[in-house]
Amino acid sequence: SEQHVIMDETAIRRALTRIAHEILEKNKGIEDCVLIGIRTRGVFLAKRIAERIEEIEGTPIPWGEIDVTSYRDDRDGTTPKPCEEVLMSSSEEKINVHDKKVILFDDVLYTGRTIRAALDALMDCGRPRMIQLAVLADRGHRELPIRPDYIGKNVPTSKHEEITAALQEYDGKDEVTISQR
Ligand code: 5GP
Ligand code: MG
Repeated sequence: SEQHVIMDETAIRRALTRIAHEILEKNKGIEDCVLIGIRTRGVFLAKRIAERIEEIEGTPIPWGEIDVTSYRDDRDGTTPKPCEEVLMSSSEEKINVHDKKVILFDDVLYTGRTIRAALDALMDCGRPRMIQLAVLADRGHRELPIRPDYIGKNVPTSKHEEITAALQEYDGKDEVTISQR
């Protein structure tokens, strides 16, 4: 079916640059901040924002990735995986979320259930002082009281529409499109 481009490479670059500045403004710098990307594409967003922030501030910011699959509410009564398999650092240095301001990243926000799982996982792996949420596209239709702090683009959708979020590192191009399911 027909696909409409709602963010091209330039729009994505500008949105991520804006979000990097918004994060710095809201947190008055990066002290005690940690960026965590939700697999798969949230990881590349966290990495890019970490790079932008380092360019702007001249200081590296710790970042890592989280795999929330074992924390989803559609799993069948199984115990979640241990923290070492859920939360991973981008560097040799172990990621520490305890008492940190954690900024979570995902590509598309929809019902909020993935973020709910991520919040649970983070709480099990330390006790963050604060958790903020950044998404490339917010398509609405929340089923939980979750809202993002940083939004690349608000994309009002019907439930029959689908967003495709392509990122260079994984999909070979940067592009967000909308299409009928
Ligand atoms: P939720 O858990 O909020 O219902 O859905 C969010 C998660 O599912 C995100 O991790 C996102 O990658 C994926 N997702 C949900 N809806 C869409 C969509 O329309 N397009 C894309 N690309 N991913 C979606
Ligand atoms: Mg996802």
